[in-house]
Amino acid sequence: MNKIDDKTGYTQWPFIEAGRIVERIKRQGKSFVIAQTGYGPSGLPHIGTFGEVARTSFVLQALNIIAPDIDARLISFSDDMDGLREVPKNIPNRRMAQKHLGKPLTSIPDPYGEEASYAHYMNRRLREFLDSFGFKYEFASSTDKYKSGVFNDGLLRILGKHERIIELFTKTISEDKRAGWSPFFPICESCGKIYSTKVTGHHPENGSISYECSVSAEDKFKSCGHKGTVSVL
Ligand SMILES: [Zn+2]
Repeated sequence: MNKIDDKTGYTQWPFIEAGRIVERIKRQGKSFVIAQTGYGPSGLPHIGTFGEVARTSFVLQALNIIAPDIDARLISFSDDMDGLREVPKNIPNRRMAQKHLGKPLTSIPDPYGEEASYAHYMNRRLREFLDSFGFKYEFASSTDKYKSGVFNDGLLRILGKHERIIELFTKTISEDKRAGWSPFFPICESCGKIYSTKVTGHHPENGSISYECSVSAEDKFKSCGHKGTVSVL
């Protein structure tokens, strides 16, 4: 038998979760809900991708039943500015992709030779995959959002408060990763890699950061030694 949730009175978990969301947004005086799922386009969509979107959709459907006046949307966000750390075993042209390890996924050629980049291909496969199950969602790309400037205000706020953010965040990660941690991940202007750079200075007064390309990963990618200062926007 299903257990009844003490607070909401519902028995099935999507309804229990939806009930909790309704309580929370009423408390906050809001009338909408935006749910987000994340996709790392370093590989093809798989059962984990399905599970994340399915579970979130179940909750939004329950929400639509118990509170139809609340506007609920699902955004499937692709972290396609992330770098490629490893080449998946189930893609073609692995040797080509290997040469681009450490670069942002939208800067790597499509190993299938069909789309503008590695990430564009994987993003297309994600949408086809989700569409085949009839999920209702809006797709968003991290690269597109960055380029559109929608993150600009947030990026400048983060830069302005970087000291406090570093202090709070580094407490949550393992000690060996704390030194030199920054909320920013600059792309090296010389070799194009994102995982080979290390931030050496934050400059909120002019919206920039300084970095050096000095982090290599054994057998995967090498840093190029370049040093530079770039805008965070
Ligand atoms: Zn470099």
